[in-house]
Amino acid sequence: MDFRLTDEQKSIIETIDKLGVDQFAPKAAYWDENHEYPWENLHKLRELGYLGMTMPKKYNGQERPLIDAILAIETAAKYCGVTARILVETNMGALGCVMAYGTEEQREQVAHRVLVEGDKPAIGMTEPEAGTALTDLRTKAVKDGDSYILNGTKHWITGGGISVTNLIFARFIENGKDLGIGGILVDKGHPGFTFGKVERAMGLRGIPETELIFEDCVVPKENVVVQGEGNEGFKKLMYGYNGQRAGASSVALGLAQGAHNLAIEWMEKREAFGRPLSEYQGLQWMMAEAEIKIAAARLLIYQAACNARDLPNNVKLPHMDESSMAKAYTSHAAFEVVSESLQMFGAYGYSQDLPLERMLRDVRMFQIGGGTTQAQINMVARSVFKRKFKNTK
Ligand SMILES: Cc1cc2nc3c(=O)[nH]c(=O)nc-3n(C[C@H](O)[C@H](O)[C@H](O)COP(=O)(O)OP(=O)(O)OC[C@H]3O[C@@H](n4cnc5c(N)ncnc54)[C@H](O)[C@@H]3O)c2cc1C
Repeated sequence: MDFRLTDEQKSIIETIDKLGVDQFAPKAAYWDENHEYPWENLHKLRELGYLGMTMPKKYNGQERPLIDAILAIETAAKYCGVTARILVETNMGALGCVMAYGTEEQREQVAHRVLVEGDKPAIGMTEPEAGTALTDLRTKAVKDGDSYILNGTKHWITGGGISVTNLIFARFIENGKDLGIGGILVDKGHPGFTFGKVERAMGLRGIPETELIFEDCVVPKENVVVQGEGNEGFKKLMYGYNGQRAGASSVALGLAQGAHNLAIEWMEKREAFGRPLSEYQGLQWMMAEAEIKIAAARLLIYQAACNARDLPNNVKLPHMDESSMAKAYTSHAAFEVVSESLQMFGAYGYSQDLPLERMLRDVRMFQIGGGTTQAQINMVARSVFKRKFKNTK
């Protein structure tokens, strides 16, 4: 395996590092405090070609490998977690499913929206009564002639109310028969589709987490991305989501790297008992262990990205077990690294005057959103024993 970056990959990192210093970091606290979506960062990233990076050239994408998008996300997250999440949702998430399984018309429409208009597609899976146990979801799409009638509620949907494109997981019903879980596109503003509660989240507050409500929402059959077909539809949707897991892991990794860098710089300057903090061996070891955790997380994520396999329509997404391993390990390790970095600052780290407390609130999310750590470990256990247990999807 060759871990050397190409010149192009180095240039992605350099460009985003520069943007991070000049544009993302200075306003990261602002988005958090004002619960405001960083549109200006999204448009800058779109102008520079960092949205839909892996999309085929025929849709105006760059057909870059998944690892290039991962590098962009990881780099942005050092400066602003919310901005890095924009990159996840405009490169992975609902996009993976639509680009792999959607119709030509859907692919063209969604690609145009992301690459030209800067839409950030949302993915609506979780319901108040069905999170980890997603197969218990209750939202129904009942076939009615050439349409589907949607009824149900989703919650904690990232970007709900902002995203024009929404990929909704629902139970497909035809002639009274439950055909299984599938995915259907519903645009913001569609009659019968409204927004409810916006969550008062602990971190990553620049992106709303919103309730989506469907009441007799009539959607044409042309909007179906994945049909309910026993367990097959659900399996496809879950596989399509693997890119999101690798992307989310990269945000956690970038937050860890960003906090770690700040701590190292601080430890050379801050003195205690006449010596810089960096000269205390106990603290050196904490930083060395953090470095090892960051390196291990990076290897797992890069492995998942580089081993991405072909889905239909030339879409490349990671394997389930590799993306689950990356997410389970990274989200936990990154939380520890950010927490220990904050510790180096003492009371200064606990203050909102510095970014550490925000980074700690932000990084905590990745052990929950996009599938909890326990859910990821269940997937790995399934792969270890090569069989499915009752506690997994
Ligand atoms: C910031 C944020 C953004 C999100 N964005 C989205 C989004 O865009 N779209 C979307 O659809 N959802 C989104 N979610 C929802 C997220 O995917 C769910 O919160 C997550 O899947 C867990 O579901 P739950 O909250 O219902 O917890 P539960 O499923 O109720 O789990 C509670 C606890 O029990 C554990 N547990 C449950 N089952 C098992 C088991 N079988 N074995 C071991 N432990 C188990 C869980 O790990 C967890 O610790 C988001 C959540 C957050 C916090």
